[in-house]
Amino acid sequence: MSSKKALVCGAGGFIGGHLINRLKEEGYYVRGIDLKEHEFFGETSADEFIIGDLRDPEVARSVVTEDLDEVYQLAADMGGAGFIFIGDNDADIMHNSALCNLNVLEEAKKVGVPKIFYSSSACIYPEYNQQDPQNPKCSEESAYPAMPDSEYGWEKLFSERLYLSYMRNHGIDVRIARFHNIFGPFGTWDGGREKAPAAICRKVAIAEDGGEVEVWGDGTQTRSFLIIDECIEGMRRFMKSDFIGPVNIGSEEMISIQDFTKMVIDVSGKKLSIKNVEGPRGVAGRNSDNALIREKLGWAPSKPLRNGVEETYKWIEEQVKEKRKAAV
Ligand code: NAD
Repeated sequence: MSSKKALVCGAGGFIGGHLINRLKEEGYYVRGIDLKEHEFFGETSADEFIIGDLRDPEVARSVVTEDLDEVYQLAADMGGAGFIFIGDNDADIMHNSALCNLNVLEEAKKVGVPKIFYSSSACIYPEYNQQDPQNPKCSEESAYPAMPDSEYGWEKLFSERLYLSYMRNHGIDVRIARFHNIFGPFGTWDGGREKAPAAICRKVAIAEDGGEVEVWGDGTQTRSFLIIDECIEGMRRFMKSDFIGPVNIGSEEMISIQDFTKMVIDVSGKKLSIKNVEGPRGVAGRNSDNALIREKLGWAPSKPLRNGVEETYKWIEEQVKEKRKAAV
């Protein structure tokens, strides 16, 4: 068991909530900070949970203290395609997320935090390498020349460089991971910020047997999806390693959105047809490239996508039922 002390920024979010549970299992003392409590976990397992806004340097100062062994910076203004690709949220995404990173890192420098984890994203990869749905390129070194397809991706790229600069100039030990579509139970599944796997599970759970499910775009766009348990396992292994990154944490099991939807429908046991409609869809193809994580950590995610879909669909189906019950 560990006697280490960690700060989780973005503790009320999907990955932050799961990370806190894992750190507690490992014996950590955990302080969490977020704008809000975790929506789905009920009582937090963190030792301290602070509601606060990391855009405010004073708040960052109050939570980034010198007794910390590790900081996990997951706080970001983010969402799925319906949030980051529509244009309306670009200024907020860049301003809010950059401020969280600037403030947390500056305080980490001042108090001398030994190690800090930063969650970057597959969205940093250049659009020009992701135009062939069957053959996208997302190896870590292909990030430059940079041309992310969203401001969300540009902010992540700026912040990656910010962390690396603080490492070079101020000696902070950083770990930078590029997450590829993490999904699973206890994540946002409705309201506009949900990502594709949760949105598709929700649509299937809501549909009446014999009905239709809407999919944004023609469904040929490809992605890979990583179940949350393996994301957390990857984060912990990465944090314990000597490797700085950036490194992909994602699944290599690429699937088209049409086939992903068919998989969810199959898991649901319903008979449904797919209706392709206009909608934000992002790059044509994206897949994790796990050569580097395998080389550096001797490990890579291996759980089949279908297992994650079964787990996630079951949880979202329960949420839909509970919401319906509450509405009557
Ligand atoms: P999430 O939206 O569930 O969690 C982010 C949390 O940050 C939210 O709870 C939000 O309230 C909090 N936050 C935002 N602004 C804040 C502020 N000013 N002060 C304090 N808290 C603030 O997202 P997630 O899926 O848990 O993602 C965690 C991190 O991983 C994010 O940085 C995200 O960009 C990155 N990431 C996630 C994925 C994914 O598939 N989930 C993929 C790539 C990168």
